[in-house]
Amino acid sequence: MSKTIFERIIAREIAADIIYEDDHIVAFMDIKPVAPTHALIIPRKAIARLEDLQPEDHSILGHMLMKAPAIAAQLGLSESGYRLVINNGRDAGQEVAHLHLHLIGGRRMTWPPG
Ligand code: AMP
Repeated sequence: MSKTIFERIIAREIAADIIYEDDHIVAFMDIKPVAPTHALIIPRKAIARLEDLQPEDHSILGHMLMKAPAIAAQLGLSESGYRLVINNGRDAGQEVAHLHLHLIGGRRMTWPPG
């Protein structure tokens, strides 16, 4: 299997605006933002979609969510709020087969999403 673009970002094979990283996750700015602030939080482990999660991955998923407020704070979004989104699979519009959490803010969102 060839590497996804996100694996290549983790490996520093292609450039990205990385704003946070630790042993388990990497966060970087989305290259095509859908709002004034748009970051992605991804696990270092190559997990294509939620269906591929293994029992031992629950801590990774928890870590992604637990770190989101600190990353949002770093981006100045704590007070105004932000949306966290996982596009999982074709109908959700998932383009990159590496699990990722969109962190989107800086404007008022509408609901339901398109
Ligand atoms: P999704 O549609 O949920 O799979 O989202 C994939 C996201 O990755 C999109 O918002 C893209 O703009 C973003 N993206 C793709 N390539 C890059 C890249 N090289 N650097 C940063 N973000 C990217």
